[in-house]
Amino acid sequence: MSNRLSRRGLLTSLAAAPLVAVPAIGALNSTASSRVTKVAKSPPPIASIKVGRFEVIALTDGYADMPFGYFTGRTAAEVEQSADAISAARKAGLRLAFNQFLVRDGDRLILIDTGPAGALGETGRLPGALAALGVTPADIDAVVLTHMHFDHISGLVAGGRKVFANAEVYADRRDVIHWTDPAKRAAAPDFLKSSFDASEEVVRLYPRLNRIDGEREIARGVSIVDLTGHTPGHIGVRISDGGESLIMVSDMLFHPAVHPADAGVGFVFEQDPAAARRMRERFFPRAAEERALIAATHMPFPGLGRIARDGGTLRWITADWAHGA
Ligand SMILES: [Zn+2]
Repeated sequence: MSNRLSRRGLLTSLAAAPLVAVPAIGALNSTASSRVTKVAKSPPPIASIKVGRFEVIALTDGYADMPFGYFTGRTAAEVEQSADAISAARKAGLRLAFNQFLVRDGDRLILIDTGPAGALGETGRLPGALAALGVTPADIDAVVLTHMHFDHISGLVAGGRKVFANAEVYADRRDVIHWTDPAKRAAAPDFLKSSFDASEEVVRLYPRLNRIDGEREIARGVSIVDLTGHTPGHIGVRISDGGESLIMVSDMLFHPAVHPADAGVGFVFEQDPAAARRMRERFFPRAAEERALIAATHMPFPGLGRIARDGGTLRWITADWAHGA
């Protein structure tokens, strides 16, 4: 019997016996239905997790569907098959999230990445998510850019002006050099040009941009981790306090249909596919062994989870989180 048939069989048998108790009609009438006349536009999703004294708040700028053919190392048909196996194959491809992480240390606020800000898919919701928390852009003390692809840096600029007036901005020096090099821009395929253009604008509007050289602590308990490969200066951020830690790994994981089970799957944007693959091959099993708490940009919201070994394969397990902050 195929999976599809057995699934249908399961659904049929469940239909006969509802799993969830349904409240009596009278109860519904007296509460919800008398108040709610239509469904309002949903508020931005917000999830938080404690790491020692830190609060790490997952926000999302939105999502976009990426064609199966954008993933490398496997054919489009193979990626689609992996997606179908977990019921995640959409007509337009795999749905990737664009998550950002706000790290709160007392009054100090550090934002990791800023999203595509409407440049693709259904995005542009980060400002609303910050506002829902009562945080204005001027309240952000620091912004760490994990790399300079446009889907991580576009939220730094709005209408040709800088958004985070008081923030120290950090990016790896190798990425700043690469993404502001006119010769590299000229030689790059069209789909990378927007990242060059966005980087040029960020460097111009944030003249005090901190160029990071190697692994270092940028604030007490907040350290840069080198994850080169996806881009020359692709970095992660480790948050640690009181024996607890979380590592934000940006584009090390794209979607549960392919990662962490298959480190051989990459993405067409990757600068050095072989180096990116080696980095994933090293990181995935180690993260499973250490049961590391991970934050990842493109995994389904909130992008907080762990890599777990399940028999011979590695799986993504969403971490427990709390609503709001
Ligand atoms: Zn990305």
